[in-house]
Amino acid sequence: MTKRNFPEGYEPKNVAYYCGVLQDASVIPPATNHNFPHQEENRVKEGLVSYVKNDLPALFPALKKSDGTIDWNCMIDLENRQGEERINSQYWRANIDPTERYTLTNVNSSIHRIRTNETGFDNLYITGDWIQTNFNYGCIECCVMAGMMTARAVSGEEILIVGENDNW
Ligand SMILES: Cc1cc2nc3c(=O)[nH]c(=O)nc-3n(C[C@H](O)[C@H](O)[C@H](O)COP(=O)(O)OP(=O)(O)OC[C@H]3O[C@@H](n4cnc5c(N)ncnc54)[C@H](O)[C@@H]3O)c2cc1C
Repeated sequence: MTKRNFPEGYEPKNVAYYCGVLQDASVIPPATNHNFPHQEENRVKEGLVSYVKNDLPALFPALKKSDGTIDWNCMIDLENRQGEERINSQYWRANIDPTERYTLTNVNSSIHRIRTNETGFDNLYITGDWIQTNFNYGCIECCVMAGMMTARAVSGEEILIVGENDNW
């Protein structure tokens, strides 16, 4: 939603987003369990409320009123809910689908990454933050490098990794 879409008096002055580790559920049910995503979203919501109450004031001291409670009015709520209920105006999500899982860089895991042109098929190239590049992390820099490498491979140019030649 752009600022233009907010009614007068409700214009946001700041946008902030927070990410954190979500422990897997002890049992991950089959995809046919349609209640599971909702259950996990609720878990994130609980964490969000706790974060706002206990941790966020360290970053935004004005979030706490003089009596020590949270000033929930700092959140824009087009439905004008009161107190903690205003949290329902916020956006939260639980990344639980396989394609939403974060690409980790655990120790010694890079050996399992393959290069853009190492699929085993002559005309199939892979790209993304999960392939072997000069920077094996789950980040934008890594996926940009991957994209550049794939573009080079598709163009028939040489694929180079640090240690072989830094000028790729
Ligand atoms: C919560 C979070 C916060 C992050 N914060 C940062 C940050 O602050 N800085 C930073 O540098 N990086 C950050 N990252 C990492 C960064 O977002 C990723 O490294 C980057 O988006 C990876 O880009 P990608 O193109 O490789 O993959 P993606 O962005 O995951 O794109 C893959 C796309 O393919 C689509 N797709 C999957 N399967 C299919 C299919 N079968 N058919 C068609 N489409 C398909 C997916 O829907 C998706 O749109 C963050 C990641 C997360 C999850």
